[in-house]
Amino acid sequence: MTNGTLTEDIFGINVFNDAVMRQRLPKETYKALHKTIDEGRRLDPEVASVVANAMKDWALEKGATHYTHWFQPLNSVTAEKHDAFISPLPGGAVIQEFSGKELVRGEADASSLPNGGLRSTFEARGYTAWDPTSYAFIKDKVLCIPTAYCSYGGEALDKKTPLLRSMEALNKQAVRILHLFGRLDATRVTPTVGPEQEYFLVDKDLFDRRSDLIFAGRTLFGSKPPKGQELGDHFFGTIQTRVQSFMADLNEELWKLGVLAKTEHNETAPAQHEMAPIYAIASVACDHNQITMEMMKKVALRHNLVCLLAEKPFEGVNGSGKHNNWSMFTNTGYNLLEPGDSPHESAQFLLFLTSVIKAVDENQDLLRASVASAGNDHRLGGCEAPPPIISIFLGDELTEILEALEAGAIYNGREKQDMTVGVHALPKFPRDTTDRNRTSPFAFTGNKFEFRSLGSSASVSDANVVLNTIVAESLRQYADELEKAQDFRSSLHDLIVREIHDHKRIIFNGNNYSEEWVKEAGKRGLLSLSSTVDALPCYTAEKNIRLFETHRVLSESELRSRRDIGLDSYAKMINIEAETMLMMSRRQILPAVLKYAGSLASACGSLKDAGVPLECSGTILGELCSETDRLKMATDTLSAALEKKPGGDNPLDAASYMHDTVLPAMTALRKSADHLEQITDRAVWPFPTYDELLFSIQ
Ligand code: ADP
Ligand code: MG
Repeated sequence: MTNGTLTEDIFGINVFNDAVMRQRLPKETYKALHKTIDEGRRLDPEVASVVANAMKDWALEKGATHYTHWFQPLNSVTAEKHDAFISPLPGGAVIQEFSGKELVRGEADASSLPNGGLRSTFEARGYTAWDPTSYAFIKDKVLCIPTAYCSYGGEALDKKTPLLRSMEALNKQAVRILHLFGRLDATRVTPTVGPEQEYFLVDKDLFDRRSDLIFAGRTLFGSKPPKGQELGDHFFGTIQTRVQSFMADLNEELWKLGVLAKTEHNETAPAQHEMAPIYAIASVACDHNQITMEMMKKVALRHNLVCLLAEKPFEGVNGSGKHNNWSMFTNTGYNLLEPGDSPHESAQFLLFLTSVIKAVDENQDLLRASVASAGNDHRLGGCEAPPPIISIFLGDELTEILEALEAGAIYNGREKQDMTVGVHALPKFPRDTTDRNRTSPFAFTGNKFEFRSLGSSASVSDANVVLNTIVAESLRQYADELEKAQDFRSSLHDLIVREIHDHKRIIFNGNNYSEEWVKEAGKRGLLSLSSTVDALPCYTAEKNIRLFETHRVLSESELRSRRDIGLDSYAKMINIEAETMLMMSRRQILPAVLKYAGSLASACGSLKDAGVPLECSGTILGELCSETDRLKMATDTLSAALEKKPGGDNPLDAASYMHDTVLPAMTALRKSADHLEQITDRAVWPFPTYDELLFSIQ
């Protein structure tokens, strides 16, 4: 830790934030920039030029030598190409320069980034454009300018552009609704996001000895240790000293970059931890989450640790996700998912609540698709994470209130009350902020929703693009209807009652991990898209193309590109994992087991020669040899499966083949190897085992 106070010497010191802008920009420029940011306008080139100059001076004072347009391509990582702040002068000297043009727009020849057919090769360039709603920051002596990334024709080649468009769509529709409620002072509505990030830490020396961790970021072999997470002694337990010092370092790095890192604790599985920031507007939260993941990896290395962000690094213990807390705020500081005290506020709350319920019910497919990846498939439905079936938890009290409204009955909770929208305030119900039901994929927690199905390594963009857009669509339909209403209050009441009736099947407050729920959900007609291969094609269903085009969030070709890139990454990831398994099986496990079998056989022979034959030797050797045979067979089967991979360039074919044929062959191979691990001398086992990986950090 550096000496100094958090607020003055650490927080935001590497961010060109509002305070710095106010201090360094001429008043007029500062005002003009703010207008651009607040109203989502285009930036005037003259303003840009003044801002660029101030930004450059600030960055140089902080020791920066380069700048980059920092963006988020479609493969969920961040991309940067560094340019030095230099321009040549006649005579061989250089000056440090950075123009408004360079700030506002960049050209990225990023032809190796995935584009899903959006960019033809003759136009390989893409363009990056500054997103002034997200502050520039300095990382490793590089001034990073958060940007959106588009093709020459304006098609989104990144995760930022649709997120900004979806925020705009939500804003437009939510403001219409607020104006119907007479809230004319509300001129802007912005979604807020607080993503809780889960991760594992493993010792780097152990990590380096496992090819699966190196190539796939998760273990592909490993039998369960004698102790897992059954005692529940890790969750919220005392944080190990080494982890504590990692967390302190991480917090400081994040604070310097203006990330509001707030809460840290151990998670359920051994070696698993979590960091939650204070929420921010969706686009900034997304940028900050990318920075957080990058910093977690970097800072871990300083402590000779490796941070695993994969969704299921270890079988048999919990996987890692990202809980996406989501709400909507007005520019006047009002949370639209806050139940409120007066009848008027309650009515408004109920309408926004209903809009989310309708959105989730009608778009289960999109929500599931937005969290689909090879890694997350192993986690969802693993009886420790939400199932792939999307449903909403509201808590008993709020559910009863909705039921009473629907039935036109008296709500007989603690406070008996007749329920009419707009006439009665909602009875006080206990705020369910305590995660009472952790099994739900989509839970209302008092004044926000928490979407828990996101994978730990994913960008939060995809899920929030979907959330913002589907809620915008519900609100659009409501506004269309209510703007025509003769009597607003009674039409509002009728609308809410009708919507509860139509969409209540999506509400489920029970145990989402249970078998009964799977059956019940089937009866209710809810979707169960168990794999990425089932989920991703939903992006281009007719209804979804119409939805995204209506709100100008994604065009049909942009949707297609996202579907195809997702399927392609899925197939590639499984291919890497399968190849890694083959390598480990052939070059590490088989040789080790054969060596052990040889030494067992000669030990048995020696005992027999000495006249003391070991009764059990046949059994031990027999078990070892027959399992080794199975391992060899499973290895050959997997190898043959990989050789028969379909050619051609249909990503759905490739992904389906990986899912249907390669994954089962990987499972069979793992089963054999894990059994062998249990019956082989620990000293000859060729890589660190689960007990070492999960319990070695003190
Ligand atoms: P809990 O642990 O009960 O889910 P917390 O208050 O700890 O609730 O919040 C968890 C996460 O939700 C934090 O990242 C927090 O900033 C975020 N959060 C809280 N309120 C909101 C909101 N209105 N919109 C978006 N995120 C929120
Ligand atoms: Mg939470």
